[in-house]
Amino acid sequence: MEDSGKKEWIIDKYNKIQNEYQNFSGIRDKIRPEIGALRISITYLLVGSLWILLSDIVLDMLTSSEEMYKELQIYKGWFYVAITGIIFFFLIYRVLNLYRQSVEQVLKSYDEVNIAYEELTIMNEELTAQYDEADQQRDALMLSEQRYQLIVDGASDGIWDWDLTNDFYFVSDKWKKLFGYEPSEIRDTMLGWQEYFYPGDFEKIKEILVQYLRKETDIFEATYRLKHKNGEYRWVYSRGKAVWNQEGKALRIAGSHKDITETKLMEEQLEIFAYYDQMTSLWNRIRFEQEIQRLMKRQKSFAIVNLDIDDLKEINDMFGQEIGDEYIRYFASILNEQIKKPDFAARFSGDQFVILIYNYNNEKELSFYLDYLFSIIKRPWKTQGTDILMTVSGGVAVYPEHGETLSQMMQKAEIAMVEQKEKGKNGYTFFQPKMYENTLKIIRLNTRLREAVYKSEFQLYYQPQVDLVTEEIVGVEALIRWNDPEEGFISPMDFIPVAEKNGLIVPIGYWVLKTAMEQKREWERLFNLNIKVAVNMSGYCITDDIVMEHICQMIEEMGVKPEELEIEVTETAVMIDLDKAKEGLERIRSYGITIAMDDFGTGYSSLTYLQRLPIDILKIDREFLNTIEIGGQDSYIYNSVIELGHNMDLKIVAEGIETKEQRDYIKYKGCDMGQGYYFYKPMPAESLNQIFQNQSSKEV
Ligand code: C2E
Ligand code: MG
Ligand code: MG
Repeated sequence: MEDSGKKEWIIDKYNKIQNEYQNFSGIRDKIRPEIGALRISITYLLVGSLWILLSDIVLDMLTSSEEMYKELQIYKGWFYVAITGIIFFFLIYRVLNLYRQSVEQVLKSYDEVNIAYEELTIMNEELTAQYDEADQQRDALMLSEQRYQLIVDGASDGIWDWDLTNDFYFVSDKWKKLFGYEPSEIRDTMLGWQEYFYPGDFEKIKEILVQYLRKETDIFEATYRLKHKNGEYRWVYSRGKAVWNQEGKALRIAGSHKDITETKLMEEQLEIFAYYDQMTSLWNRIRFEQEIQRLMKRQKSFAIVNLDIDDLKEINDMFGQEIGDEYIRYFASILNEQIKKPDFAARFSGDQFVILIYNYNNEKELSFYLDYLFSIIKRPWKTQGTDILMTVSGGVAVYPEHGETLSQMMQKAEIAMVEQKEKGKNGYTFFQPKMYENTLKIIRLNTRLREAVYKSEFQLYYQPQVDLVTEEIVGVEALIRWNDPEEGFISPMDFIPVAEKNGLIVPIGYWVLKTAMEQKREWERLFNLNIKVAVNMSGYCITDDIVMEHICQMIEEMGVKPEELEIEVTETAVMIDLDKAKEGLERIRSYGITIAMDDFGTGYSSLTYLQRLPIDILKIDREFLNTIEIGGQDSYIYNSVIELGHNMDLKIVAEGIETKEQRDYIKYKGCDMGQGYYFYKPMPAESLNQIFQNQSSKEV
């Protein structure tokens, strides 16, 4: 039964018992024993007296006969008994009736009281149980209050409770002390606290609070800064929950505050590790990518400039890794100082940096900016008392023209940068779609070249070299030809650099050397001809110990006369690693094989390092020949090269002789041998067979 029901029930019972009591009182008032008894006695006395006095008079009037009188006297006596009997009956009946009524009432009331008693017993039990429960709850409440107090006093976090209706903002004393304040120093209202927030943080919290009060969030959670008494701001993390009324309005919010300054500092430290390049303190690739993703959402045009330090490897090799690192830091400092904010540079890896230009308007404007930057980069770099001229190559890609994703943009900037490297480094280039085609061409070439190696689609052509005095063929240079089934002949100028990059130069190099030696043996067999065969060898093979080992083994196995074998290397090839090249060439030379320096005049053209290398022959590049006007001023250089070469005991071969005048000129200048279309074009072995055939028949 509910409490309100119980109450009504008790009132009802009480009213009933009250009514019963009224009834009993009425009945009790009615029952008056002395009056009742008196009434019966008086009635009897009256009736008896009247009867005695009047009945004989009436009888006398009625009759005069004695007989009759006596007879009537008898009837009169019986009549009196009858009348008094009736009167007694009614009088006694009334009293007994009252008695019965009251006994019944008593019994009825007894039942009612009995029921009420039972109900009350039940109710009493319920009340006892409720009392016990309330008792327990009170104990629990006391316990939880004690606990709460312990938490407030003992917690390292602050406890807060904000009465929104009255703006009473309770914050534990401990929290105030943590910030250096006495408990009474700060008013216990939100307004009182407002001035301690870091500028702008209070407004942010208000927004979060409004969201929570609108029930858009499950919990109130905010991170902000509060002022310590010493003036420092400390980071605080607060969370809390509201108590809502029936209309869904928040009455108060309570929760905890936590000082998270240490965690924040750690986060900042971690961010430095995660987003900054340790060596240069520039942003790293991850941070750069995040910024790009953000910019892409902005849908405005921006540009990226991919920068690669030219020939940093050479600096590392020559001066050591530390100097290389020093340059990287120096270069980063230029970027940091010269790039206008908000543009920034990030270091992606080793010598690769990328600049983000936030607002790109046109190529001209950006070129102006980059020209200035590059003019600073080109300034000599002072280290260890010397000036070093370092250069950088850059590629520019523009969003959204050149790509809609970061990887597309990076790819384009990279392609443009590679293009700049090929153009001679030291500068920057904007990406153009045709560059992409070039790259695609290279990728396709890579795949096809790999197939060509496995399918042996190569062939060797041979170009004779003649003695300029006798004009006899004294040797042949083996030149590789690739007859691609789809594209036809592809120039070695196009595919050799690709093979050098993808490593296919090694199997190609083996094949050329082996085929050339086999051909030489064939000519020996066919024409008894001891002709010198020159083979071009890539710098990548010469500077690799394992490859050199294999080459030497091949030479030994083939058993060709080493003095009739010549290896041609280019200046640029040996510059990959001068010491290693020297080692490799000396090894080859120790067999008695001659070494020729190819294309002399196009690369570094430094006679000083020529002295360090084991060289027998100098081949002057045809470009060199083409630039001189016969008899003109430049011939002086040609003269000195020949003279110097001869002084170093080198034989001189002039390449690319196309005309009689050229032949006469170089002959006159004292070149030893000549090679060029004027004498012979490169040709397959079968065509040379014919020439050798004719020669040998002439000799016979
Ligand atoms: P290289 O070793 O200097 O070869 C001479 C190049 O000049 C050859 O071009 C030849 O065909 C060309 N040439 C010869 N005489 C004349 C002339 O009078 N006028 C003109 N315009 N050109 C002439 P090719 O065969 O296209 O070879 C180009 C370069 O490719 C070679 O230059 C060499 O550096 C490289 N190469 C060729 N075959 C091989 C090879 O088997 N291995 C390696 N590693 N490189 C090779
Ligand atoms: Mg050559
Ligand atoms: Mg050459």
